[in-house]
Amino acid sequence: MRFTRCQKIILFALTSNVVLFIYFAVLQHYNFTDRPESDRDHLLEFDKKLQIGENENHSFLRVPFKETEIAKFLTIIIREFEDFENNVLSTISHLQKLIKGINIIVISDRLPYPPLTKPRDLKNVKFVTLNLMLDRSAEEVSVRGLIKTDYVLFVPDGVVISSLQEFYKFLIEFNTYYFTKAMVVKTGKQNLTCPEVVISIKKWTLEMRDFTGSEGSCDFVEGDQAILLRTSDLADLQSPFTVPLSMSLYIQFVIRKWKILVYKKNVFLPRKELKDPHSSWKHKHNEEARKKSLMQKFGLKQLVYNMEKKVLYGCNKDTERCFQTVINDVPDFIQENKWTPPCCLQAVRETAKHVFRIFNQYNLRYWLEGGSLLGAVRHKDIIPWDYDVDVGIYKEDILKCPQLMKVQGGPFIDDGGFQWEKAEEGDFYRVHYSDINRNHVDIFPFYPKNGVMTKNTWFKTHRQDTEFPELYLKPLTTIEFIGMNVSAPNSVKSFLEYKFGKGVIENPRYPNNIKAEE
Ligand code: ZN
Repeated sequence: MRFTRCQKIILFALTSNVVLFIYFAVLQHYNFTDRPESDRDHLLEFDKKLQIGENENHSFLRVPFKETEIAKFLTIIIREFEDFENNVLSTISHLQKLIKGINIIVISDRLPYPPLTKPRDLKNVKFVTLNLMLDRSAEEVSVRGLIKTDYVLFVPDGVVISSLQEFYKFLIEFNTYYFTKAMVVKTGKQNLTCPEVVISIKKWTLEMRDFTGSEGSCDFVEGDQAILLRTSDLADLQSPFTVPLSMSLYIQFVIRKWKILVYKKNVFLPRKELKDPHSSWKHKHNEEARKKSLMQKFGLKQLVYNMEKKVLYGCNKDTERCFQTVINDVPDFIQENKWTPPCCLQAVRETAKHVFRIFNQYNLRYWLEGGSLLGAVRHKDIIPWDYDVDVGIYKEDILKCPQLMKVQGGPFIDDGGFQWEKAEEGDFYRVHYSDINRNHVDIFPFYPKNGVMTKNTWFKTHRQDTEFPELYLKPLTTIEFIGMNVSAPNSVKSFLEYKFGKGVIENPRYPNNIKAEE
């Protein structure tokens, strides 16, 4: 059989491709024994893709690079360092000495102050600030435009690579895990941990649980780390450079169901700590502030650790509440398919507890009304998309309560920092969480008339805002609500069905028809 010259070339190219593939795939990567089950599956899956040619964009694989060519494929980014004490310049010089021609980008929120005293002959390093500078063009400030390589490695300030060979192995290893979106390695003394993370946009909540299962791919990695990822994936993130970096990246990963792999071998020597104890303190303090602003930016107002320890990041007594004036009973968060921010619910709970304690103290006859009573019956708490607490009182009992008497003369702030006022909308009272934060409790005065409880102001749009037989208050009973025993009408189910209609307890009406999750 004779081949033309052209056929010979094609045959040679095909054969050498197969040989190269076997060499790199089989010899380098088929080291199954020390890999967890799930990754083995990844590999098999990956091989299938390779055969049907779905790896077009994967230049790492088609052209496996040499140790001397790292700079062609990799850009290193230093994103996190403090102005007041850092090792940015020594880190750059260490990296450049070790990795020939490596491109480094240093990103900061604003120009570091005191300024970094850069040597004049600094090559292949770009310093970029993210703050808005009106006199610069969009191109000048585009970090993504500066990354010309297929891979990006984020390193913390002050990293030290233990050996180029180990570093190279780490980079090459990432190739094997085609479906893993990032590979990370520790840069500090502590081992990295892999908590389980659930994000609920609707509940404004980031939930973390210590991971106890087997090792493998992670949702989220905590600890001092370098993060290797593909530039194309980084470009897919809306907020790729927000700090704290790992937290911000992994929140975005979780939402995309992207997985991270922890590289177990040592690539970096443990990083130096800040020398000055005051600097360490300041760093910790700044880190907390950055976390807070990250949560705010990402619309997360609550961090839950291991089901119990909760940190609220939303509004407080000194800030406005998290939502606008409520129009036609629909708060703004409902149109975004979200429920009441956790901080706001907490503010309403605290205000309600404060009011109930005062009412108990002065023996006022009061009871939970409307949606608040409904929430108490359903789950002993405020309904997740409700935004205030409604309480009824006997109008004549106002005389027994110094706060309700005092408010006749105008709004005032009590010893607990809560603001009392007579509502402008009609004959009822409001207690606000503070004079700035308008999360509140409404207090409606009712009086009996021929055996029926009535009042002077009615909300026409509220079906439940009706007169009702005084018998429901004779006697008053108690119900558990927001961690307290609170006064309520007797025959609660009948009372609620009288006001809202039959089956109201069993059949929640979700706002915007959002279905309950879980
Ligand atoms: Zn709030």
